[in-house]
Amino acid sequence: MANSSSCIFCQIAAEQLPAEIVRIDDEFVAFRDVSPRAKTHVLVIPRSHVEHLDDFLADGGSSDRMLAFVRATAAEVGVEGQYRLVTNVGEAAGQVVPHLHWHILAGQRLPGFG
Ligand code: 5GP
Ligand code: ZN
Repeated sequence: MANSSSCIFCQIAAEQLPAEIVRIDDEFVAFRDVSPRAKTHVLVIPRSHVEHLDDFLADGGSSDRMLAFVRATAAEVGVEGQYRLVTNVGEAAGQVVPHLHWHILAGQRLPGFG
């Protein structure tokens, strides 16, 4: 599905819903999370609708280009080399918005896992 009119992240990618966009190209968009969980909390999404990372990869999406965009976004917001990258795959993992997104969390010391 290229675009889902009911999907809030598709609407943000189409600039039909306001968001604080920090980086954009023809494949991906990065914007600030509306409810930040760290000093810097940016979301990176593909412009085309895809539910989560597993579907993106199954559809032949380029993880190289996506991660290069993530890295450039981190540099853009001033956290290059110092950030946490998280993507939730599926509801049981805590995914709320069913459009693939990476959380870039940074700007402060983050608690470790485990
Ligand atoms: P998930 O739990 O699905 O991995 O994360 C969804 C994220 O999207 C949450 O961190 C939430 O704050 C953020 N979010 C939900 N709705 C909006 C919105 O309309 N605008 C922006 N900028 N972020 C949103
Ligand atoms: Zn979508």
